[in-house]
Order: sequence, then C-alpha cells, then structure tokens
Amino acid sequence: MLSKNEILSLLKTKEIPKDLLEEAYKVRKYYSGRYVFFRALIEISNICQKACFYCGVNRENKNLKRYYINLETLKKIFEKVKNLKYTSVAIQSGEIISKKHFEFLKKIVTLAKSKYNFEITLSLGELPKKILKDLFSLGARRYLLRFEVATPKRYYLYHYKDNLHSYENRIKTLYTLKEIGYQVGTGFLVGLPFDNPLNLYKDIRLIQKLKPDMIGIGPYIPQKYTKLFNLLEKGVKILNEKDRFFLNIKLIAIFRILLKTPNIVASTALITLGTKFFPLEEVLNFAFKAGANVIMPVFTPSKEKKLYALYENKYFSEHEKFYDGTLKASFIPVLERYGNPISYYIRNFK
Ligand code: SAH
Repeated sequence: MLSKNEILSLLKTKEIPKDLLEEAYKVRKYYSGRYVFFRALIEISNICQKACFYCGVNRENKNLKRYYINLETLKKIFEKVKNLKYTSVAIQSGEIISKKHFEFLKKIVTLAKSKYNFEITLSLGELPKKILKDLFSLGARRYLLRFEVATPKRYYLYHYKDNLHSYENRIKTLYTLKEIGYQVGTGFLVGLPFDNPLNLYKDIRLIQKLKPDMIGIGPYIPQKYTKLFNLLEKGVKILNEKDRFFLNIKLIAIFRILLKTPNIVASTALITLGTKFFPLEEVLNFAFKAGANVIMPVFTPSKEKKLYALYENKYFSEHEKFYDGTLKASFIPVLERYGNPISYYIRNFK
C-alpha cells in the first residue's frame, strides 16, 4: 500500500522507480494475468452542448463539421466487429440532451443487445437519470464518465460555471450510475495547465473514494480551437509530451497498486503521445505492465473519425494495429469475453 507521503513524493519527481512498476506488474499478473480486454469504440456523434476548455468538440468550435451516425451505418459496424469476434462495444458521443437523441440511444442499445448480445459501455456525458435507467433496463451495463478534475475550484478553471457545466452534477451523475447498477468508469485529465502534484493527489483521492470498476485517465493534448489553447499561446506552460506520457504510466501503476481490481484502460490519448517517441508495442508494453488491461480500438467510420477531434493528431487506433501490438508487447488480446473487472465479481459473488 502507498501512503499519502509516498504518493506525493512519487508525483513530485519525474522518475518512475523500478520497484513501483514491479509491484504494479505483480498485482496485475495476480488479478488478470497477461490478458487485455478489447472493446470496440464507436463515436456516434461529435455534436456537443458543452464548451469544455480543453476539448476540441466543444460547441464553440465553429470550424468543425458536425456528424451524427445513422442506424444503418451502425449496423454495419456491429456486423464488422461481431465478425472480428468482439463481444464488448463502447458507444461514445458529445453530450446531447434531446428526445430524438434519447430515442436513438434506446434503439442502439436494443439492437446491440437483442441482435448481437454485446456487452455495452456508454460514454455519453451527463444524461438525465430517467434515460440512464431506461438504457440500463434495455441492457447497457457500463458507463464511462470521467470527472475530469477532482475539486470544484479547479473544475471551473476548465469549464464555465453554469447549468451545463456543473461539477456537482457530474459527481452526482456518477453516484446515480452506481445506484442504477452500472459498472462505472471514471478518471481525469493528466497534465492540464495549472496542474501540480497536490492537485493530482486530489484526483487520486477521488478515484479512491469512488472505487470505480474502470479507470480511464489520459494525458491532456492541446487542441487548436479551444480556450486552453489560447492560454498556451500566451505562454502558460504545461509538462512536455514525454513527461505527460510517463506521468500517466506512473499513475496507472499507482492505481493498480492502490485499487488492485478495477479495469484500467490504455487510453487513445496515452497511445497518441507515447507513439511520438516509441513504437506502438513498446507503448503498450509500458501501459500493460504498469497495470492497464483494457484497450479500445476505434471503429468509427474514417470520415467521421477525423471529425471526432478531441485533440490534435489523435492516434489512428485501428483494430489490427492494436491486436498485433498487444501480441508483440507479449500480452494476450481478449475479444470473446465481456471482460468484467475483478471488482465486479467481488461485489456480486461475495
Ligand atoms: N461527452 C462524453 C465523452 C467525452 S469525450 C463525456 O462528457 O463524458 C471523452 C474524453 O476525452 C473526455 O472525458 C475527456 O477527458 C477527453 N478529452 C477531451 N479533450 C481532450 C484533450 N484535449 N486531450 C485529451 N483528452 C481529452
């Protein structure tokens, strides 16, 4: 177990002690061997009602063509991933609050469950409780909602303070999801401007408090048409790319040691930064050895994929590359199982 002081001192230096990685790998191997759960990620729309200062699909970005994938296209994608032997899909989009959107989501979940029996992860922002309940009863079982920033004071450095951007509502939604029965995934952005070790410690504490079934953290990567980009242009400093990459790796190891049993994702943002310096298999090897055990190749059609522009030069995370990369990194891709985290089994079969 790591004490507060140990964690803080880990966060204050750039080094990753060898024994931290060794310990994390020991825990990883004990609970999930060398397995890596694959989930097919489909980004159904880049339309968003929010204006997060770090995010490229923020509603104020007028340079971005907006898209919304239709059911026919989605069916084709489901067929494709089914043929590749996927059993787990993740559906992500900007935050859209509209009846039409909700009806579409219900159709998607119904199709994915009744026709393909996929295990479904949703990542659609802070939807109202009623629709979250409906989607659960139609068969969705996992929900990914990062809290992004752990304390209200810092949250409003990167968000407006209004009805659509409420720290309170984001946290409340996480508890609602748990209450409904979803396996909840959450996490935060690593290396935002104005970050420091003490803030990061608070992010870690909130993860410990929420005890999620899945942890999804990712390094912040600037995007041109965002408020934060303007700040960077004016000279506000952030950690360099390599340091952000390794800080994320270090955090994965810390979480594997602290919480042991949740799934932890090797995020696309992490892979985007890592592959600027290392071959993919090395990046995956860093992440998986530190304790990551989930990866989400993107199956959004290529035209739309480019428009899901959360940040610059997003890694083209294709199935084949990730599959081969995982094998080359000496880990084992798992597609034919849902990939529940150990935390889920412990909760349900005690
Ligand atoms: N609308 C959904 C999905 C958001 S996109 C929601 O609100 O949860 C998924 C994640 O991308 C976000 O949670 C955020 O942490 C991450 N993201 C956004 N902008 C980013 C950036 N510039 N760099 C790295 N990650 C970013």
